Amino acid sequence: MAKREKRRVAHSVERDERRAHSVERIGTDKLSAKRYPLNAKESDFIKFLGTAGARFVMIKQLRASGGIWVSYRGTNVLIDPGPGSIVRCAKSLPRLDPSKLDGIILTHRHLDHSNDINIMIEAMTEGGFKKRGVVFLPSDAIAEHPVISNHAINFPQKIELLEEYKRYNIGELEFSASMKHLHSAETYGLKFNMNKTSVSLLSDTRYFDALTEFYKTDILIICVTFYEPHPDIDHLCLSEAREIIRKINPKKAILTHFGMSMLKSKPHIQAQELTKQLGIEVVAAHDGMVVDIT
Ligand SMILES: [Zn+2]
Ligand SMILES: [Zn+2]
Repeated sequence: MAKREKRRVAHSVERDERRAHSVERIGTDKLSAKRYPLNAKESDFIKFLGTAGARFVMIKQLRASGGIWVSYRGTNVLIDPGPGSIVRCAKSLPRLDPSKLDGIILTHRHLDHSNDINIMIEAMTEGGFKKRGVVFLPSDAIAEHPVISNHAINFPQKIELLEEYKRYNIGELEFSASMKHLHSAETYGLKFNMNKTSVSLLSDTRYFDALTEFYKTDILIICVTFYEPHPDIDHLCLSEAREIIRKINPKKAILTHFGMSMLKSKPHIQAQELTKQLGIEVVAAHDGMVVDIT
């Protein structure tokens, strides 16, 4: 990457980091983003502990890769604990305590989604001394080359396999898995209901038409790795994300999981453009962003 480009990425990353110290509030009938200080009372929320997508943004930690923390009526679930998840929990303001986790969900086994699974299991189970929590993951994440070590495999109360369209319960939170995505590992997206607001996380995949059926929700969180199409790689690019958002017509769409080309194109500018083009509120997630679901 040319020096000037590098500088540009670094500057836009810094700016996004600064923006990270604000919170977005959202409710079913009040969907315009409203910012308020992070020390405000948080109850039912989704927090981005990372917004890095694919290899290089993760390796260089231009964005963090800690996954997404969901807190709902006292139930806490961590989705896709990539590298540094444990650090992002500890550094979170206010701190997120992994020993309060009720579950961990892996959408798939790739490193940017699963690297910290063992340490997060150890933290959830207080060093393995308290058998608790459920880990949900696709079957290929635990098959021949399991992502969970022998050391940690017996710590959780239960390991549950994700299956197409199956519904799951963890504490107060109910969620369902999507159809299998078109990705180089067995991959599922997720759908939740929180306070009458439906929320979905569209994880890594190649584009296909059926995506728009399952992900019809009030809030759509969508992994957009590339700025331009890469037909040979199973990730969404911005124009495909635009098409999905347009068809689903959510109350709010949140772009995340950015690769290098998306970072260079300044995700928050792209989100503003999409908002203008589609007439739908689209925001770019930043590390530390909280969406409060009231
Ligand atoms: Zn990924
Ligand atoms: Zn992946």
